[in-house]
Amino acid sequence: MSDCLFCQIVAKEIPAEIVYETGRTLAFRDRNPQAPTHVLVIPKQHHRDAAELAGADDGLADDVLKTAHAVAVQEGVAEGGYRVVFNTGPGAGQTVFHVHAHVLGGRGLTWPPG
Ligand code: 5GP
Ligand code: ZN
Repeated sequence: MSDCLFCQIVAKEIPAEIVYETGRTLAFRDRNPQAPTHVLVIPKQHHRDAAELAGADDGLADDVLKTAHAVAVQEGVAEGGYRVVFNTGPGAGQTVFHVHAHVLGGRGLTWPPG
């Protein structure tokens, strides 16, 4: 989708600090980090949200979760604890409609989130 911000990052049309990449996923630092580690993990293929990704019947959601964990290990936050968040829909604060997992860590994370 040419008008999608994250598709443009996949296409390298706009820059991002990429930290991890697989054949079907890409991970890059959030431009407005909410924790010392704040990385966004996306499927390279466009799906609007986690609900749509869940319906992709080809293991893509699995790949996104595996990449999220690999990022946490690489960032050194896997042992201390980290959070994986899919804001899904405007009511949950989703602002970019290309599904992305936020991987947050490196500080104490309160529960419940706001
Ligand atoms: P959402 O609110 O949809 O769950 O999360 C969107 C996230 O994308 C936000 O945390 C925001 O800071 C991040 N973001 C928005 N535009 C860009 C961008 O152009 N580059 C990067 N690296 N992050 C972005
Ligand atoms: Zn997209």
